[in-house]
Amino acid sequence: MGFDHTHSTPATCAVSDKLGRPLHDLRISVTDRCNLRCTYCMPEEHFGDKYPFLQRRDLLSFEEIVTVARAVASMGGVKLRLTGGEPLLRKNLSVLVAMLHDIPGIDDIALTTNGILLPQFAQELRDAGVRRVTISLDSLNEATFAKISGRPIKPTSVLEGIDAARAAGFGAVKVNAVIQKGVNDEDIVPLAAQFRGTGVVMRFIEFMDVGTLNGWNRKNVVTGAEMVARISERYPLEPIAPNYHGEVATRYRYTDGQGEVGFIQSVSQPFCGNCSRLRLAPNGELYTCLFGNQSHPLKPLFEDGADEDAVRDHIHSIWSGRKDRYSEIRTEHSASANRVEMYHIGG
Ligand code: SF4
Repeated sequence: MGFDHTHSTPATCAVSDKLGRPLHDLRISVTDRCNLRCTYCMPEEHFGDKYPFLQRRDLLSFEEIVTVARAVASMGGVKLRLTGGEPLLRKNLSVLVAMLHDIPGIDDIALTTNGILLPQFAQELRDAGVRRVTISLDSLNEATFAKISGRPIKPTSVLEGIDAARAAGFGAVKVNAVIQKGVNDEDIVPLAAQFRGTGVVMRFIEFMDVGTLNGWNRKNVVTGAEMVARISERYPLEPIAPNYHGEVATRYRYTDGQGEVGFIQSVSQPFCGNCSRLRLAPNGELYTCLFGNQSHPLKPLFEDGADEDAVRDHIHSIWSGRKDRYSEIRTEHSASANRVEMYHIGG
């Protein structure tokens, strides 16, 4: 079934999946490379110096990425998030941002980064059109940070990145920490304290069985409820309403007015019911779920000279056939199944 391609305005052919979830967000992983080796994503023992990362010829070009984003925008997609690997390692990223910013219908471009290179790129990315930035920081403790990140880098490098993001004037700056029991759960309250009253929103992520290499075990999960309880002992919290329908984080605010904190609870409080996220890997593979094990390659279409209409039709058929809800059906058995690695599609 083709489309009425006369539509020039965006959001003309909204599409929903088998569970009635509209396509709303596109997460674009622009590289599979990273300058860190976080244990829950890209453990060093699997991703050493000789690891065969994607070569330049394997990557989608900026033009191809824009074609995918335009197609998604024409089907109701409004939010783009740039991720990786570490997206700031992709050369001329702000050029891509400017191209994406010009797409009619796209009203929000966000970036997820480990923050290390932000002092170098924050201002140009802001000027090019990135509105919101999320920075990963799993610990303020030097030893714990080095252990988790797999690199002899200090958390101060990330704090400098956060300062650069704030100085660049992004609409929102958030900090994410993946909490693992017995690894960095002692950091929950210190991280909350670090960003209270600063306008930076701290968000705590339950340890997830993303990919197949991070040694996930449910007993190492600290649930959102436990984290709320720990913080509340020191800084009382109260729940607040989501910013928008389908927001991933559960929001709380400090009762003393010192800002808010969020919890991403994919294990204890799955949120698949509102999941409107499509993921694009650097080599053009589409995934309809963070825990997906089936990819939909787009590169062959581009190599066959596909235009935006053909790409839109292809994505439309993928999304309308989607019925993923991994977190809702996660079992001890599913935890061992084959899944795409996080570094390949970003969180
Ligand atoms: S598990 Fe998959 S379907 Fe559920 S919220 Fe995450 S990405 Fe969406």
